[in-house]
Amino acid sequence: MALVDHIGKTPLVRLERVTRGLVPPEVEIWAKLESFNPGGSVKDRAAWSIIQDAENSGRLRPGMLLLDSSSGNTGIAYGMIAAARGHRLVLCLPKNANRERKQLLAAYGVEVIETDPLEGSDGAIRQARALVRDYPERYLYLDQYSNPANWLAHYHGTATELWAQTQGRISHWVAGLGTTGTFVGTSRRLKELNPEIHCAAVQPDSPYHGLEGLKHLETAIIPAIYDPQLVDQHLAAPTEESILLLRRLAREEGILVGPSAAAALWGAIQVGQNLKQGVVVTLFPDGGERYLSEAHLWT
Ligand code: PMP
Repeated sequence: MALVDHIGKTPLVRLERVTRGLVPPEVEIWAKLESFNPGGSVKDRAAWSIIQDAENSGRLRPGMLLLDSSSGNTGIAYGMIAAARGHRLVLCLPKNANRERKQLLAAYGVEVIETDPLEGSDGAIRQARALVRDYPERYLYLDQYSNPANWLAHYHGTATELWAQTQGRISHWVAGLGTTGTFVGTSRRLKELNPEIHCAAVQPDSPYHGLEGLKHLETAIIPAIYDPQLVDQHLAAPTEESILLLRRLAREEGILVGPSAAAALWGAIQVGQNLKQGVVVTLFPDGGERYLSEAHLWT
């Protein structure tokens, strides 16, 4: 099997200690650990789906460069897959992306264009759009925010896996919103499999947050793939409370994750605490190794 064939099929684990006393005993909380992907995050799924689509569509002509914007994980996933498939990649990245991200991108040989840190991921989107407008022959714009191949990766992959891993018992699905691909694709398929499944979307509670990878949609460019009709419940995660859960996950469950995973767990607990029983499933987008240089998270 090739490297890309090992994307997906990630483990689903039951959380017990970190949720004890916070949700009723008949409420199960499960988390899908996306750090088990070969590129270390959930974005391997979307990046492979998007690059495969570009390869198959015939739009990727010889000599063209793949181009996109990313706040980190998608860029790393693209970098790994571009190397594995023999493509060249240019990435627009906010200048304040953390050290581990920049090191990983350099290691995979990605050409990075740094964008205004004050404009965050939206600044990187604008830069990528400007480049493809000025040089349409040179760049193939992958556009993870508008590309259906992003959510389709979760429709075919993540949702199908969760259905099988819970033997169809999943009653509640909770996920953070970034490009919204994870939430949209998984929710769409789960609702087809069982229209009763309750889908809750987690966003940061303010535009200035520390939940890397998540978007505050009210104040951000809304991704074209976003479908608000799939959202049964919106949850606004506070950074500080999420970070406390990040530490507890590491110390009480042995699960090292990034801040957006902790926000997802915060959301799953909000959903779970109002139930008598249920199978609440969430997804942890990446692992904590990618954030070790951010000392405030861990101590
Ligand atoms: N968390 C992290 C750490 C991410 O990198 C991303 C992707 N931007 C997300 C959450 C959100 O996933 P999605 O883009 O599928 O909404």
